[in-house]
Amino acid sequence: MNTLHDFNFENKKAIIRVDFNVPLDENLNVTDTTRINAAKPTILKILEDGGSAILMSHLGRPKGVEDKFSLQHIVKVVSEVIGIQVKFVSNCIGDEAENAASELENGEVLLLENLRFHPEEKSGDKNFAEKLSKLGDIYVNDAFGTAHRAHASTTIIAQFFPENKCFGLLLAKEIASLNTVLNNSKKPVTAIIGGAKVSSKIDVIKNIIDKVDNIIIGGGMGFTFIKVKGGKIGDSLVENDKLDVAQEILNLAKANNTRIHLPIDVIGADAFSETANTQVFPANQIPDGWQGLDAGPKTNVGFSFVIAESKTILWNGPIGVFEMEKFAKGTIEIGNAIAEATEDGAFSLVGGGDSVAAVKQFNLADKMSYISTGGGAMLEMLEGKTLPGIAAIMN
Ligand code: AMP
Repeated sequence: MNTLHDFNFENKKAIIRVDFNVPLDENLNVTDTTRINAAKPTILKILEDGGSAILMSHLGRPKGVEDKFSLQHIVKVVSEVIGIQVKFVSNCIGDEAENAASELENGEVLLLENLRFHPEEKSGDKNFAEKLSKLGDIYVNDAFGTAHRAHASTTIIAQFFPENKCFGLLLAKEIASLNTVLNNSKKPVTAIIGGAKVSSKIDVIKNIIDKVDNIIIGGGMGFTFIKVKGGKIGDSLVENDKLDVAQEILNLAKANNTRIHLPIDVIGADAFSETANTQVFPANQIPDGWQGLDAGPKTNVGFSFVIAESKTILWNGPIGVFEMEKFAKGTIEIGNAIAEATEDGAFSLVGGGDSVAAVKQFNLADKMSYISTGGGAMLEMLEGKTLPGIAAIMN
């Protein structure tokens, strides 16, 4: 694996694809610097070697050039996080960008304007990628969040650096963490898969089923499994067109000696609402007019027990509608159980937008071994796919 440590950046300009797609408030202030912090070690290593760093990223989904998506708005925060004044150039290609790049001195950092102001970025245009490639001597990809996209700056650009390309420290860590869970794991391995729909996680479950000992299935997707096993699920979320897939997964689990753990009780609600009436029901006896919106108390004890026994833990997707306080307990208890297991020496990896949001909301982030920075990218890796951005560096 080509990593940053294989190169000495002295007198070199590194062109780095970072993921600075950060949230901004209505006054265009950055509200969460996690992604900028995550890229900092890579940038600092290059500067410490005696090189310079040219940062390129997308921000949001602009339709052409739109001021609210300008990376100009984040220059101040990037400068604060990295600890030096970052320069900015208001285009990512062309004379202006080339001049700014060539004037850059060792120890300096230049941020390019939003890549997606050019539609050629997303279409993976080769000429556009070549123009970007002219700005630097070594290409570094440190953007896991976009590694599953074959965009110009994430994938196509790599062909212009046949020898001089590598993973940044963040991307290398993402790959290593997933590898620890899927291929080098200490047993027992437990995957907790939650969220709304089975359909979005089918390929993940099928790919990991022979690599893990336990799969805890929670959240809305659990009801499709409970229904196929003959349970009464009332008005709970269900995908009737996925009942056969759920059955296939149960069969595959049996054939692989993988234990599937489903909720045995649920917090039922008479409406999808914070003000709903609630009642605990056995998960397979939910009356009509009621829907399961969180794991029940017996389930929480059972799931926590499985997690406590585990040496490797993967968590993707909430166990209930954690956005509503009334239905957050299952997700909190899972988070606490993983935090405790991690303290006892287990390796825990959390990924996927909603589980990461939950872990942050419940102040558990620093108690996990690793929190992935890529939702879609992580899911695709868990599905066993080769991500184009990763393949482009490996080739
Ligand atoms: P996903 O994007 O598929 O990971 O799903 C995340 C969403 O699933 C969150 O917004 C949760 O509120 C929702 N969710 C979790 N459990 C349930 C449930 N029992 N019923 C409906 N939605 C749920």
